[in-house]
Amino acid sequence: MLKPNRHYQDLTENYLFSEIARRVAAFKEANPAARVISMGIGDVTLPLCPAVTDAMGKAVAEMGDPATFQGYPPAVGYDFLKSAIARYYAERGIPVTERDVFVSDGAKSDTGNITDLFDNDNVVLIPDPVYPVYLDSNVMLGRTVRLIDATEENGYLPLPDERTEGDIIYLCSPNNPTGAVYTREGLKAWVDFALKNGSVILFDAAYEAFVRDPALPRSIYEIEGARACAIEFCSFSKTAGFTGTRCGYTIVPAELEAGGMNLSRMWLRRQSTKYNGTAYIVQRGAAAVFSPEGHAQTRANLRYYLDNARLIMAFLDKKGIPYTGGECSPYIWLKCPDGCTSWEFFDRLLNTAAVVGTPGSGFGRNGEGRFRLTSFGSREGTLEALDRLDALL
Ligand code: PLP
Repeated sequence: MLKPNRHYQDLTENYLFSEIARRVAAFKEANPAARVISMGIGDVTLPLCPAVTDAMGKAVAEMGDPATFQGYPPAVGYDFLKSAIARYYAERGIPVTERDVFVSDGAKSDTGNITDLFDNDNVVLIPDPVYPVYLDSNVMLGRTVRLIDATEENGYLPLPDERTEGDIIYLCSPNNPTGAVYTREGLKAWVDFALKNGSVILFDAAYEAFVRDPALPRSIYEIEGARACAIEFCSFSKTAGFTGTRCGYTIVPAELEAGGMNLSRMWLRRQSTKYNGTAYIVQRGAAAVFSPEGHAQTRANLRYYLDNARLIMAFLDKKGIPYTGGECSPYIWLKCPDGCTSWEFFDRLLNTAAVVGTPGSGFGRNGEGRFRLTSFGSREGTLEALDRLDALL
């Protein structure tokens, strides 16, 4: 008899976005004239920049020419993109070389697939609240997960203490959903912990490009010793609007070892066995993000989102509503006023202002009573939403 993976039964129903969609649809049906503004989505809205689309257009032409046609790409990326990514780190004085870079179709796949490298007999530490993929991909494998509390008290940036135990540690900074960003000291505490305990840190830097404060780290490898204990995930999704185009990269330092096994060689083997490479056209587009024009154009888009975030923050400041994030992140994580639960606040915003956000409780137990707004909308939409909320809060 076939035995399915019963651990899938241990997954909690991921009803957050479907429940939001259900409530919004019901509201629209009852209020057909209302114009609903979404401040809940984690998807970008600005299109790919011209430097990227030009490069992809050229690559399309190359694919149609027998002299330049490309077949299967290298499983872990073309040299032209890996070297551009390595330069992106080198320019900031961060010790990452081309050999450490593995190109992929995005950070979601890589943060989920990295579980292949580790035995089930490990203690996995995951912050609560956080991006749900880390928890679900471990639950699917029946792994022992311990949640680390990220709360208002620790600024949503938990640190290890003398009781902390963990072999695999997930960190996300800037954080989804809280927008909180670790300081160098905070990351150093985790790197020191991992080095002392022989643990590995899985560092999700998908939002690093939003960090504008030079005092804050954008890569775990800014911390001494991190090459011996950390893997970093990054993505073009939020940096350059690639959510629908699909390209990301993971840094596994060439010398990174655990229990006598080299994790870089294992990841190479894993990817070349189960992944057949990111499309040439997409990689050409991704490489263009690092050209001077691509850099300037993507930075302008990030500025646009951060300016939206600034408007939201100014509004919350005016209303005296506490929040984290926004400064170096597209996410603003606020405390629901009047002691509302996350879903009560969701309903209040939807039913009285036709504004949609994301209930914090959907990201973990510690998200109850919190609410996530995003700055990925248009300027007009953001301003109008704030106008409507002004009358309500
Ligand atoms: N990591 C975090 C923290 C995210 O919030 C997201 C997407 O929302 C991802 C990874 C997924 O990125 P990608 O589009 O590269 O798969």
